[in-house]
Amino acid sequence: MAENVETNGSQQARHQEYILETSVYPREHEAMKELREITAKHPWNIMTTSADEGQFLNMLLKLINAKNTMEIGVYTGYSLLATTLALPHDGKILAMDINRENYELGLPVIEKAGVAHKIDFREGPALPVLDEMIKDSTKHGSFDFIFVDADKDNYLNYHKRLIDLVKVGGVIGYDNTLWNGSVVATPDAPLRKYVRYYKDFVLELNKALAADPRIEICQLPVGDGITLCRRLT
Ligand code: SAM
Ligand code: CA
Repeated sequence: MAENVETNGSQQARHQEYILETSVYPREHEAMKELREITAKHPWNIMTTSADEGQFLNMLLKLINAKNTMEIGVYTGYSLLATTLALPHDGKILAMDINRENYELGLPVIEKAGVAHKIDFREGPALPVLDEMIKDSTKHGSFDFIFVDADKDNYLNYHKRLIDLVKVGGVIGYDNTLWNGSVVATPDAPLRKYVRYYKDFVLELNKALAADPRIEICQLPVGDGITLCRRLT
């Protein structure tokens, strides 16, 4: 069994490499490439959205004609740039991160691409911002798309609020729902400390989303796993 997991894992890595070389890098926007290369030199580069997931998000936002969006967890802005490039000229993204420095590392590239005017960046924890918005009834049902890619131990707290802020028919995307493959790891599997710490939160989230009658879900093995939730009521 363990061997099968390993074999499948390395096969998935080869598939991803093939997808990147064949379909993603040849079509990647020059600003996305530049930002990816800048981010690769940053010590926390493991946090960035992969290029195939960036392409996926960009396509998804266009398919659903997203105009008013939100992102929790910006880092240097790769998924943010994928989003802003997909939005119409008057589209908006409310982007939140506790760290402004990393956002500012990518900002010149986003500015050069001519899409920075769509961004409302808020430095600080996302939860209080969501709580403020919940108090304002005009914000309810106002977001077409919300991408959640921050502190995994808060995803269920985010979900409680986001379900009211996303419009009926709109989509919330929870990122890293395969959590480095740890969701299928045996209890004794060696896991990095941070992976082990967040694993149970991700497992709990996945169960809660699967049981939530207010949404339809689709969990995709893109990047480290993304679960799309479409609000029903
Ligand atoms: N989406 C990003 C990208 O494409 O590169 C990656 C985001 S990274 C995985 C997670 C980010 O969440 C970090 O930049 C971190 O500072 C931020 N973060 C952690 N806790 C947060 C919180 N409570 N509120 C907002 N952002 C938070
Ligand atoms: Ca992520």
